[in-house]
Amino acid sequence: MLESLLERIDHEEFILLSEDIKSSLAEHHIWLQRINLAIATRTPIKEHSFIAEDGHRHCHFGLWLANIMAEEEFDSPIFDQINQLHVKLHLKGSELIYSLDLGHPLDESLYASFLDTQRQFFNAVLELLEFSVISTHQFDPTTKLMNRRSIHSILAHEKQRMEKTKDTVCAIAMADIDRFKAFNDRYGHDLGDKVLEHVASVFNSAIRRYDSVARFGGEEFLFVLPDMTIKDATNTIERVRKKLSTSPIESEFGPLAVTASFGITQLCPHCNTEGSLKRADVALYEAKARGRNLCVSVDASKLLQHRELCSVDPSEEQLQEIIQKYCEVI
Ligand code: GH3
Ligand code: MG
Ligand code: MG
Repeated sequence: MLESLLERIDHEEFILLSEDIKSSLAEHHIWLQRINLAIATRTPIKEHSFIAEDGHRHCHFGLWLANIMAEEEFDSPIFDQINQLHVKLHLKGSELIYSLDLGHPLDESLYASFLDTQRQFFNAVLELLEFSVISTHQFDPTTKLMNRRSIHSILAHEKQRMEKTKDTVCAIAMADIDRFKAFNDRYGHDLGDKVLEHVASVFNSAIRRYDSVARFGGEEFLFVLPDMTIKDATNTIERVRKKLSTSPIESEFGPLAVTASFGITQLCPHCNTEGSLKRADVALYEAKARGRNLCVSVDASKLLQHRELCSVDPSEEQLQEIIQKYCEVI
């Protein structure tokens, strides 16, 4: 229900949303405390905000919610759900206080239902808050893709899956934009950022729903392709490469061609994740060395005779030399 918000709300808005929820919720806590205290001590409250049936329209939370719901980008069933619970909470609170003012004994079933609504309201708001906070930490603000930390948890999950089920495979691909520095130098940093956004959007639209792509570093991206053999992954990534090279970015300087180089390999069940990433990196380096705008793959199973790659920590040069022997240019 909440995922659709990710397509419309950016990093800064999620930060604001989290802060707004926290402050609005704090105010609502005080309101609830006053009502509970009045009921426990049987002290009537005369203030309009506590008695009014439409109190939900005037409290800080209600005003904030009305503003949010008026904006198209926040169109999500979660806000309707929170709104309904909020209205209900005020109605029940007002009923309780009104009856207390009239000196009636406490209606226990009304009070129980008030407490239940309160619990549901806080749960729904906390779900939204949790989602907003997580979203600010999981995604890269420029490209809206997952960041390095998030993709590492996906890699760990895939590694675990491979350890549990022996014939599970997973391919990975490291991508790096070609001559990216030149975009910054020639057209400025803002255009450089637009290039990053453009590349991210091309990459994201070219993969399956259960594949992932993340911004791994400056102008580097990492694909995780679960259940794909090296052959399938090579075909897929080659398709992505072609798509990017035939999708120039429209800019104030006219259409600009953007290409990237790719290094493809498997997530190896025999070595640690860093080892697999290193292999993808060496393949990528090879694609750069051979002229860029290329895919290079390295099949981990062909490296099995070099067990030392997994068991000991080979030097950078050693590793590069061995892996380069098995690289295949597409
Ligand atoms: P190569 O084809 O060998 O990859 O060359 P390159 O120019 O792409 O690589 P290089 O490592 O020389 O330059 C990468 C540049 O990316 C340098 C850095 O300033 C820029 N960069 C890193 N992060 C960002 C960012 O978030 N926004 C912008 N605009 N530039 C960035
Ligand atoms: Mg680059
Ligand atoms: Mg780079």
